Amino acid sequence: MSEDCLFCKIIKKEIPADIVYEDDQVLAFRDISPQAPLHVLIIPHKHISTINDASENDEKLLGYMLLTAAKIARENQVDEAGYRLVINCNEQGGQTVFHVHLHLLAGRQLTRLG
Ligand code: AMP
Ligand code: ZN
Repeated sequence: MSEDCLFCKIIKKEIPADIVYEDDQVLAFRDISPQAPLHVLIIPHKHISTINDASENDEKLLGYMLLTAAKIARENQVDEAGYRLVINCNEQGGQTVFHVHLHLLAGRQLTRLG
């Protein structure tokens, strides 16, 4: 936990969020500024600032975040139509909250990258 981290505060329930899934390892909640009809953020309970700060110890946790995203996609019936999973890193990657999070975007045709 990091004292002044927004997403740690959401995990501690100090700030409200529209939670769609939680267990002992991860929390998933709707993005406050959705970029698609379904826009969910999947975060680890463990505070990791950026994907650069993840270590081999986090390998399972990062895989678990991906599987959780796929489960949420299935539950929302967007798995067949398709969806996008994104992790932004640092300034040029567009990261604004420094607690690793996986974006799940679905429900519209997403534009090609690049
Ligand atoms: P990133 O730009 O990859 O760091 O993504 C941060 C995301 O967090 C953005 O899409 C924001 O809209 C979202 N966000 C910021 N504050 C909140 C909040 N309080 N609850 C839910 N999502 C948030
Ligand atoms: Zn944090």
